[in-house]
Amino acid sequence: MPWYYAQSNQRFGPYTDAEFSNMVAQGTVTMDTLVWRDGMQNWVPYSQVQTTMPPSGAAAPPAREYTAPSGDQSMVVCSSCHRAFPEDEVIQYQGAYVCATCKPVFVQRLREGASLAGEMRYAGFWIRFLAYILDSLILGAFNFVLGLVIGLSAAAGGGDPDAMVGLQIVLNLVGIVIGVSYFTFFNGRFGATPGKMACGLRVVTAEGQPITYLRAFARYWALLLSAFTLLIGFIIAAFDEQKRALHDHICSTRVVRK
Ligand SMILES: [Zn+2]
Repeated sequence: MPWYYAQSNQRFGPYTDAEFSNMVAQGTVTMDTLVWRDGMQNWVPYSQVQTTMPPSGAAAPPAREYTAPSGDQSMVVCSSCHRAFPEDEVIQYQGAYVCATCKPVFVQRLREGASLAGEMRYAGFWIRFLAYILDSLILGAFNFVLGLVIGLSAAAGGGDPDAMVGLQIVLNLVGIVIGVSYFTFFNGRFGATPGKMACGLRVVTAEGQPITYLRAFARYWALLLSAFTLLIGFIIAAFDEQKRALHDHICSTRVVRK
């Protein structure tokens, strides 16, 4: 455990036990010097540490209040970097001291934590269900018209039953390609399919960032998996604290309200 000592409002350290003993021997650290090491709540004169904590360091001293001698400022320890500072050079946040150097990072972290909690409004099961119905209607209508046009023109050109079955298979495959393209393009480009846009929803990463085309592509196949589980993959969103469906779990995505 490293040692620190303070002199004229400046902190020195960390020092190993051996280094520190040397400084005591040389008189750099005297009985009146304020010292601190991990586990101590306050800076105390070295004389106090000596009486309560033998050099073998068997037991940590009990925490005790210490007021610096008049003329000296009392020193406090920054909760982020664990260095000591005069009390008027630090800010206090919920009982913890933060020094000027650590303050920007500390505040930034607070802000990020706060904004994450504030901005991520997870969309519930029913609004997502509605968005999915809308997307299915759009895709269904598109595939229906496509099938109708191609089917009618094939029928007009003779209508061989074998050819019609082959055509049906091709149309089904085309339907899948259209579905993949639809979900990949809209989720990757805009963060939402037209159905989700209409419902004011957006697909984001766990951190609230837009998803990439690759993740949107992968999410489509995970979505099919949710559909193949008798919709149980969708329904679990109603019971998840972050409203995640199976495909959200697989792709680490969330659906949020704009
Ligand atoms: Zn600090």
